[in-house]
Amino acid sequence: MTDRYSRQTLFEGVGEEGQRRLGNSRVVIIGCGALGTIIATSLVRAGVGQVRIIDRDFIEYHNLQRQVLFDEDDIRDQLPKAIAAERHLKKVNSSVEVEGIVADVNYTNIERFTRDADLIMDGLDNLETRFLINDVSLKHRIPWVYGGAISSSGMTMNIIPGETPCFRCLSSGVPNPEVVLTCDTAGVISPAPWIIGSLQTAEAMKILVGAREINRNLIIIDVWKGTFHRLKLAPSEHCPACEGKYGFLDGRFGIRTTSLCGQNAVQVLSPETKHLSLEELAIRLKPVARVSHSEFMLRFTVDNHEMIVFPDGRAILRDTTDESLARGLYAKYIGT
Ligand SMILES: [Zn+2]
Repeated sequence: MTDRYSRQTLFEGVGEEGQRRLGNSRVVIIGCGALGTIIATSLVRAGVGQVRIIDRDFIEYHNLQRQVLFDEDDIRDQLPKAIAAERHLKKVNSSVEVEGIVADVNYTNIERFTRDADLIMDGLDNLETRFLINDVSLKHRIPWVYGGAISSSGMTMNIIPGETPCFRCLSSGVPNPEVVLTCDTAGVISPAPWIIGSLQTAEAMKILVGAREINRNLIIIDVWKGTFHRLKLAPSEHCPACEGKYGFLDGRFGIRTTSLCGQNAVQVLSPETKHLSLEELAIRLKPVARVSHSEFMLRFTVDNHEMIVFPDGRAILRDTTDESLARGLYAKYIGT
């Protein structure tokens, strides 16, 4: 057991002292898809003391192409990602306290999930929850490592409260959903999230051992083109989050859902969305869903669920009362 970390402690950036610090650290990973599985497996193998993994989804066959922790047995057993990840990782390193939580992270629970964290890792596929992580990070001064990957490219940056610009500094509003491509509409090849997840893990290790060479730039890579860019960022002068206004954490922004009584349907509202081009949405959804639309509404079916979308960004998911499912499908297929 003492030899387990020998190759890592030989590396001077970590050393015995760094290893001890990793062992005393608590990390929360939010989202356990391609990024999350890479981050989780790396941090557990590296000997981070406590790793909490939160995810709301089940595993599907199209996840196996890039989500390294899962296998066909997990699908046969119908395991949620957080549970499958916990089971696999406990076998990898029994000395780490691994906790898988099946939940939709939102403004009502994120402070509870991250209360004792030294670091938050972003393994998400939607922007809304990232703004929420950003709020909780600034409010409680917990650093977080942003990462996002889609198609053949990805981005990552560290947000260290009080030291670096925050995630909201980069985009003071919420981008229009039309411009937000998500994995389910654009496709993704595994090297993109894997390299981003690995860069995130390296930053996590540096932050946890207290290294000085922490990345303060936005890193953008494209594995297909073979490009690697580094953008220097400046804090925004009018960033609400940096001014201590945590709108996402207060539940003032973001996707809202309401169960429509008597209709067996859930309505999804995205208050930041003023206008949605159904034409463009239809083009984006065609590869993954059955879509039909008029100028007044767009109807698409995916995973046996039918969603109706209106030009004001409102959507209705039919034949369910599951609000978290509705919010998840909205974030996945329509955007933030
Ligand atoms: Zn900011």
